[in-house]
Amino acid sequence: MRTPESIEHVKVIGSGLVGSMLSMYLARRGFEVEVFERRPDMRKETISAGRSINLALSTRGIHSLERLGLADAVLAQAIPMKGRVMHAVDGALSYQPYGKNDDECIYSISRGELNKTLLTHAEATGRVTIRFRHRATSVDLDEATLECIDEATGLTKTVSGDMIFGTDGSASALRAAMRSRPGFVQTEDVLSYGYKEFHIPPTADGGFQLEKNALHIWPRGTFMLIALPNFDGSFTCTLFLPWTGELSFETLQEPAAVESFFSAYFADVVPLLTDVTGTFFKNPTGQMVTVKCAPWNVGDRALVLGDAAHAVVPFFGQGMNCGFEDCALLDDFIGANPEGWHRDLGTYATNRKPDADAIADMAVANFVEMRDKVGDPNFLLEKAIEKRLLNEFPGRFTSRYALVSFSRVPYRFAQEVGFVTDGILEELRHGVASADQVDLAVASSLIAQKLEPVLRK
Ligand code: FAD
Repeated sequence: MRTPESIEHVKVIGSGLVGSMLSMYLARRGFEVEVFERRPDMRKETISAGRSINLALSTRGIHSLERLGLADAVLAQAIPMKGRVMHAVDGALSYQPYGKNDDECIYSISRGELNKTLLTHAEATGRVTIRFRHRATSVDLDEATLECIDEATGLTKTVSGDMIFGTDGSASALRAAMRSRPGFVQTEDVLSYGYKEFHIPPTADGGFQLEKNALHIWPRGTFMLIALPNFDGSFTCTLFLPWTGELSFETLQEPAAVESFFSAYFADVVPLLTDVTGTFFKNPTGQMVTVKCAPWNVGDRALVLGDAAHAVVPFFGQGMNCGFEDCALLDDFIGANPEGWHRDLGTYATNRKPDADAIADMAVANFVEMRDKVGDPNFLLEKAIEKRLLNEFPGRFTSRYALVSFSRVPYRFAQEVGFVTDGILEELRHGVASADQVDLAVASSLIAQKLEPVLRK
C-alpha cells in the first residue's frame, strides 16, 4: 500500500466544472496535476456540455472563482437574475425578489463557457495536463493507480500518482471503486421526475422575449417549467415532469398529446418556444439523483469532491456552487497544514459532509416549493412577510434562501435557521391579509425568542 511522505503528483478524474477548478487550486499549491477526462476537448469540438445548458451561480461559487482571480471574467458573461417571475396558467405574472435589494441576485451563466474558461486557466498554470478522451475504468485504491482507456486509440493505460481525486460526477468511477471497501456507505435516490430542455430564441434584434433579469417559473402542481436567460438574448427552458402518472413522460408519447399538454398548461410560452413538439422528441430526457456517501476519502490516497461525493437535485441551484466551495475549503485545509494535510483528509471530509447532506435535503424541499407552493396564496404571503422582515430587521432577521445563496455560512446552519424562520413566518401569517398588516412588535419578539438564540450560535 502506498503511503507517500509528501504529495507531489496528483491525478484527477473528470475535468467538468469542479475538476477543472480543483486542478487550478492544486496547481497553485505547487502540485503537478494530470487530469483524465472522458469527453473530447470542448474548446475544439462542438459537444454538449452535458446536462443543463445554463446554471445559476451564486455567492459560494463566485467566492471560489474570486480566489482564483476569475470572478470578474465569468460575471462579465453572466446575467443577473434578481427574482422569480411566476407565470400563472391564465398568463398572469407575479414577482418575488430573491434578496432584500437588487444587489442580492444570482447569475445565469453558460455551463459550456464556464467550463472552457476553467480548462484554459487550469492549463495556463503550467502544472495541469488534461488528457481528453481518457475514460477512467477502474481504480486501485491501495496503490493509488487508475486504469483508463484512451478513446482515440482504444489502448488501456495504467497511471499512478501520489493521490487520486474523483471529480467525475454523480456516476463517479472513483466512488464506484470505493464501494467495494468495508465500511463505505452510499445512498442514491433517483428523483421520480425527469427533465427536458427547450429553447426560446432572442428577438430579431437580439433582445429578450421575457423579462431578462429573472428566473421564470411556470408552477403547475405536479410539474413545472423554468427558464433562465442566456447572454445571447435567448432563454433555456427546462420542463420537470414525473416519469410516470397521468401527465408524465410515460403518457406524453404522441405529438398531439405533447401539443395539447403545452397549450393547456403553458399557453403563454408556446408561441415563444422553438418547435416545442419536435424538441420534446429530439432532446434527451435527463435524470436527477441525490447521492450521499461516506467516507469521501480512502486514507491519504483518494478523495471525491463535487457531484462525485454529493450529487444534489438542481432546485436550489447549488450543485456546482457547493462543488466549487468544496475546492476552496480543501485549499484552506491544505493551506492550514501544508506538510500533513493528506494524512488528515478524513477530517476535511467529515467536517464538510454534514453541509453537503444539508444542501441535498434543502434542494429536495425547494423542489416542492418551486413546483407547487409558489402558486399558493399562503406561501406567497409568507414570502412577502419574509421580505418585510428582512427590510425591517436587518442583521436580526435572515432567510434560508439568503444564507444559502448570498452567504458562505455552512449549509447546515442555513438549514437550521430555515426551520426557525419557517415557524416565525407561519405564526405571523395567521390573521393578516398582507405583509404590511403584520404587527412588527410581535415579529420583533418572535425574532428575539426564536431566531436570535440560533443566530448567536
Ligand atoms: P460533472 O459536471 O458531472 O462533471 C464530471 C466530469 O467528469 C465530466 O466532464 C465527465 O465527462 C467526466 N467523467 C465522468 N466519468 C468519467 C470517467 N470515468 N473518466 C473520465 N472522466 C469522467 N448547479 C448549480 O450550482 N446551479 C444550477 O443552477 C444548477 N442547475 C442544474 C440544472 C440541472 C438540470 C442539473 C442536472 C444540474 C444542475 N446543477 C446546478 C448541478 C451542477 O450541474 C452539478 O452540481 C455540477 O455539474 C457538478 O460538477 P462536477 O464537476 O462535480 O460533475
